[in-house]
Parts: sequence; C-alpha cells; structure tokens
Amino acid sequence: MTAFKVLSVTEPENQKIIFASKNGGKIRELKALLEGMDVNLFSLNDYPDTPNIIEDGNTFLENALKKARVISEYTGGTIIADDSGLEVDYLEGAPGIHSARYSGAEATDERNIRKLLEELKDVPTEKRGAAFRCALVLYRTDGTFETFEGKLEGKIAAEPAGVEGFGYDPVFVVPEYGKTVAQLDPETKNRISHRAMAFAKLKKSLQEKAG
Ligand code: IMP
Repeated sequence: MTAFKVLSVTEPENQKIIFASKNGGKIRELKALLEGMDVNLFSLNDYPDTPNIIEDGNTFLENALKKARVISEYTGGTIIADDSGLEVDYLEGAPGIHSARYSGAEATDERNIRKLLEELKDVPTEKRGAAFRCALVLYRTDGTFETFEGKLEGKIAAEPAGVEGFGYDPVFVVPEYGKTVAQLDPETKNRISHRAMAFAKLKKSLQEKAG
C-alpha cells in the first residue's frame, strides 16, 4: 500500500491507541472497558482518510491482523483491530468470516437472519449449536503484535425474538439465560459477549505491561 502519514492528532505516542473501527457501539464499548487506564483512545472517525481494507483473510484473526497492519502503517500509530462473526455447527462454521454479507451484496441483518433460518429449517434444537467469535489484535508501531480471542456459545432459535443489539442477536439464544441476545439488556451482553471477553484479555495485557 501507499503509506502517507496523517498524524492529525498530537498526543504522546506512547499513550495513544487507535481502534480500527468506525462503529460507534464498539468504540463506546472499548472506551468503557479502558476507563481509568493511561490510554488515549482514538478511532477511524479521527482518521477519516484511511484506506478501505478488503477483508480477504481466511479467519477472523487474519482479517483483524490485516486491518491492524494497514492502519498502523498508514497512521504510524499503535492499533487495536477486531473481526467477529457467527459460526454455526450444522453449517460447518458458516457464515463465519462472511457473517456481514451472508445474504449477498445487498445484505441486511434481517436478510441474513432470514437466510440462516431457511438453512436451518427442520434442523432440531440439539443440532442448532453456534458461537459468536471475536478476534482482536494489538499491533505496535515496531510491527510486533498480540492476539486475543473471545467466544460466546449458544443455539440458533427457530424464530427471531428481542429488539436489542444488532446482527444475529435476535436468533442467538444464550442457554444460561434462556433468551436471545436481543432479549438481554445491553449491560449483560457487554459482560458476556465474545467481544467483551476478547477486550477483557486485551485490557489485562495492557495492565500487566503498564505494571
Ligand atoms: P464485524 O466484526 O463488525 O466485521 O462483524 C461482522 C458481522 O458478524 C456483523 O455484521 C454481524 O452480522 C456479525 N456479528 C458480529 N458480532 C455480533 C454480535 O455481537 N451480535 C450479532 N451479530 C454479530
């Protein structure tokens, strides 16, 4: 790639981390998690000219790493990047890295859910196991990186329920709660989710390094 440095924000380099996302919900989640730590968190909303990254890896981790590396080379900063999605046992891990575009180029959450339920039509409850997965990468300016993963296990419901969250939340049942993720209050989701788990591991690592 062509790397032009666009350091528009002048914070001490050692405290600055750029989260490679424009997703307001995810940014809020990470900010809350890093509260009280000696970290200045920025996002791609602070770097609107970053290149569009084609997520062509074979795994969540490969995609997150590519995002982190490209954004780090472009901005010269330390980066946190993530990639996540849904893996369904009966579909041998699909939609996986294709979760966002599962129903095609014109995909919406609703269409993706409709396609998923169609694929699982007549599949009994005991075979509807699934997991949300999240891969996170902390990529440093010297090219070294750490990876963290989180997973939330559950089952795909027969029909959607609940209004909270996004994506596949209305059809993802968490057995411990007997509810879909879209029926859980956001605080609960942010405590148990695949992303929360991966972020918590990242936070622990940052804390350990800070002494
Ligand atoms: P990304 O990590 O933003 O690229 O997420 C990819 C896709 O995975 C999203 O568009 C959703 O379809 C799905 N996904 C990831 N995390 C969640 C979640 O917490 N709930 C529901 N769907 C999710």
